[in-house]
Amino acid sequence: MKTIGFIGGMSWESSLEYYRLANEKVKALLGGFSSCKCLLYSVNFAAIEALQHKGDWKTLDSLMADAAINLHKGGAEIIVLCTNTMHLCSEAISAAVPIPFLHIADATGEAIKVKQLKKIGLLGTKFTMEKDFYKQVLSNNYQIETIIPNEVDRTAVHRIIYEELVLGKINPESRATYKAIIKRLQNNGAEGIVLGCTEIPLLISQADVEVPVFDTTGIHVEKVVEWAVG
Ligand code: GLU
Repeated sequence: MKTIGFIGGMSWESSLEYYRLANEKVKALLGGFSSCKCLLYSVNFAAIEALQHKGDWKTLDSLMADAAINLHKGGAEIIVLCTNTMHLCSEAISAAVPIPFLHIADATGEAIKVKQLKKIGLLGTKFTMEKDFYKQVLSNNYQIETIIPNEVDRTAVHRIIYEELVLGKINPESRATYKAIIKRLQNNGAEGIVLGCTEIPLLISQADVEVPVFDTTGIHVEKVVEWAVG
């Protein structure tokens, strides 16, 4: 089994899910006492969040590259970044280490392709929904069209992530808000919904949605464990 290097802490609420799901998946594949060989480099999210909202992606690039370098030095054989948003720094990470980097949008694109969907709705932080880095991977590599919520709905999705989900707050009213936003995306033609923030699966599951949902946390873990177990 190969050793996975997780860059986490963004937030630790979702990194816990990565750790739990990775171990469960290894156990399901190999059985017995098997568990996941991994390293976790967990950052202080307060510093990251401040830089994100300041728009200082250059400093974030170097922080993420440093984390990857340290994981590589510690024996990691692949890098997994446990957040969608911070994939804005994926080029800096890939350039910093000579080991593979598994992009979360590639893992997700492959899962959407299996279901043969052409148009999906994307929920995530404003960075993920509004910038191109994520949508481009889906369209260039998998020919998937992405639609996003309207401005008011994007503000609500973003606020609930930063004021609740990354702080471990699961609020039933916010679940209802997300479900209404998902419904509007469906009415605009979304054939599936990407939960493109690693904390959203703590709030929304397939049971809440009529069309297929793509849980990026679960999909990302699944792919990397399959790679690590070979
Ligand atoms: N974990 C979230 C994501 O997947 C948001 C927190 C962050 O900004 O990294 O985008």
